[in-house]
Amino acid sequence: MGEQYQLFFVQRFKGKVLFNVPMSRYTSIRVGGPADVMAFPRDEADLRDIMVFATTKNFPLFVLGGGTNLVVRDGGIRGIVVNMTEGFEDITWSDETTVVVESGVGLAALVNRLKERSLGGLEFAAGIPGTVGGAVAMNAGAYGRDMSGVVEGVEVIDRKGKKGFIPAAELSFSYRKTSLPKDSVIVRVHMRFEKKERSEIEEEMDRLRKRREDTGSVGYPSAGSIFRNPEGGYAGRLIEEAGLKGYRIGDAQISDVHANYIINRGEAKARDVLALMALARDRVFGLKGIVLEPEVRVVGED
Ligand SMILES: Cc1cc2nc3c(=O)[nH]c(=O)nc-3n(C[C@H](O)[C@H](O)[C@H](O)COP(=O)(O)OP(=O)(O)OC[C@H]3O[C@@H](n4cnc5c(N)ncnc54)[C@H](O)[C@@H]3O)c2cc1C
Repeated sequence: MGEQYQLFFVQRFKGKVLFNVPMSRYTSIRVGGPADVMAFPRDEADLRDIMVFATTKNFPLFVLGGGTNLVVRDGGIRGIVVNMTEGFEDITWSDETTVVVESGVGLAALVNRLKERSLGGLEFAAGIPGTVGGAVAMNAGAYGRDMSGVVEGVEVIDRKGKKGFIPAAELSFSYRKTSLPKDSVIVRVHMRFEKKERSEIEEEMDRLRKRREDTGSVGYPSAGSIFRNPEGGYAGRLIEEAGLKGYRIGDAQISDVHANYIINRGEAKARDVLALMALARDRVFGLKGIVLEPEVRVVGED
């Protein structure tokens, strides 16, 4: 396998390639064992090549954006991690209100560009880290709004290297979820915004930013909300009621600011984070009969 990798990467692939790289460096919660290979496609041809290569060699493939919604297990990820953050950073305006954004663009950077152009619709995303591709894949959202409100469709490449366009209506956006085909990588996102007064956008962003600050920053590496809110309730409140706010296993801790955040106080391992998640699920189920479902994506091997 090593030789096959090397031939492909030396002779064909243009982007950067890292071998045996700890995923803890590429996730916001800073846990996760090594990825066999991490490849940073430089452009669409590179991306297509690597998808086809992985498929013909039967190598597993995982797509990584900013790593801000991931818990990677301590055994790491076999096969190839395709890191989208170095080659896909263009923003192209189709007209005054519509834009095509490459998936590696930071959500925060896009939010700022929109503000400069007096375009509204993404103010809610001001405090959400990660990439545009990850945000669409997760249907990221806050304060009752989410990506579905601005996305018109996505350009994708599948495992066979085939390009396609999926209109928003076929992505079945729902709470932190889309029906994006499992083996498709989002390359570009087509979005539409609305003209708005810049001051109005700034006010809205300030208001939401303040709301985030008022509820307190957790102050340590995290992956954002760990569990989805169950219908009609809040995961954080349930975890708090289960008496777990501040509970610690190793260096992983249920935040004593937001009980739906698990923080890494230094050297936490994925197994500590997962043990806290299992404990929270068990306690909340035992107490309320409610099953908490993870919002973070848990990937990799033990
Ligand atoms: C402090 C903090 C606050 C947060 N606040 C919020 C919040 O308010 N609301 C919210 O919704 N989320 C929040 N999050 C979670 C996270 O930031 C979002 O889910 C974000 O949109 C994930 O983007 P990412 O690029 O980091 O994706 P990643 O974590 O890299 O990936 C997430 C998933 O998307 C897939 N993916 C990534 N890129 C692509 C692509 N190009 N094509 C196909 N699939 C892809 C990955 O395979 C993975 O399954 C927060 C996280 C942190 C750390």
